[in-house]
Amino acid sequence: MKKNTLIVQTGRRKDWTHGIVNPPVYHASTVLFDTVADLNNAIRNRDTSLYYGRRGTPTSFALAEALTELEGGAGCSLYPSGLAAVCASILAFVAHGDHILVSDSVYDPTRNFCDQQLKRMGVETTYFDPQIADGIGSLIKKNTSLIFLESPGSITMEIQDVPAITKIAKKYGVKVILDNTWASPLYFRPLEHGVDVSVQAATKYIVGHSDAMLGAAIANKENYEQLRENSYQLGYCAAPDDVYLALRGLRTLDVRLKQHEKNALTVAHWLQQHECVDHVRHPALADFPGHDIWARDFDGSTGLFSFVLKSGSEKAVTAMLDGMQHFKMGFSWGGYESLILAYHGLKKYRTATNWSAPGPLLRLHIGLEDPEDLIEDLSAGFARLLAESD
Ligand SMILES: *Cc1c(COP(=O)(O)O)cnc(C)c1O
Repeated sequence: MKKNTLIVQTGRRKDWTHGIVNPPVYHASTVLFDTVADLNNAIRNRDTSLYYGRRGTPTSFALAEALTELEGGAGCSLYPSGLAAVCASILAFVAHGDHILVSDSVYDPTRNFCDQQLKRMGVETTYFDPQIADGIGSLIKKNTSLIFLESPGSITMEIQDVPAITKIAKKYGVKVILDNTWASPLYFRPLEHGVDVSVQAATKYIVGHSDAMLGAAIANKENYEQLRENSYQLGYCAAPDDVYLALRGLRTLDVRLKQHEKNALTVAHWLQQHECVDHVRHPALADFPGHDIWARDFDGSTGLFSFVLKSGSEKAVTAMLDGMQHFKMGFSWGGYESLILAYHGLKKYRTATNWSAPGPLLRLHIGLEDPEDLIEDLSAGFARLLAESD
């Protein structure tokens, strides 16, 4: 089956849909059993059939199966947010006294979890240059149990050489988790590149309409049971209406991503030639460091990227942002709408690498609007920036 046929058909077994196109939304805590034999049977099959609401319903089984198929894994656990999926995946594979390696451009809340929660539990984190590739070997210690990747990285968009890193990890028996939210399973398949667990903030492109919070972690055969049982012990499950929205969003993921990609590239190319812009940070641009690795490993690019201004005071950037018509400020990207955020002090988010840029960085999520309107909005924004700079 090819990709688009798969996203139409996956997770739609008759056991769950009863022949209706979409699986129904089951609101459930208690599952009732008539006989002791029925109860015992349910206990034995509790991961694939009805046992207790937290363990899953046909609605969540449908989404978990769909994401498992799309990522090419052995199973999928669902969580109430992307961050919960990140943290539960890490927790499933670390113990007191362990050391872990985390990419320096990781999503900032992931970093907070390592610096505060893991530290409190006696797990030490070392951050590394996202472009380290097989240089990661020199950072592995006797007690290193896990490498956490995110490619491209949050805000600064560095692409990582995932196959080079997983090759070294395998040699030392270290697990690798990758946050695959930017690419979604359609544009990058981490498990095929040696990653053990692929994490999705389904809140972003999978839900796709900015109306639900949801996370997922998909593991390979060797690691799924450990991921699932640890997540279950922590009490994680996902709400049925949100799971339904993810199943619904998934069906149009490819057509939406293609449009996000096209619109984002149109805007990125326009930004490249603008007098206010120092450089554009988008993995699909030929001059972006890591572009070759992106071209080798990914099947596409999506709507999120950033660019650095040649200069710009906080006052000037505020004048630019406050007057935007289509780009509004907001954190959770991946919906149909365009977003903009400014970062003035990126240095504080980076400890293993030395971020230096002539001006502030602006991160854009390019939505499904007509790119001509978005360019006009940005163009007027640059005019305000320049007026305030004089
Ligand atoms: C948004 C995001 C998350 C967290 O997802 P939430 O659903 O907002 O908790 C994790 N990783 C990345 C890369 C993200 O962009």
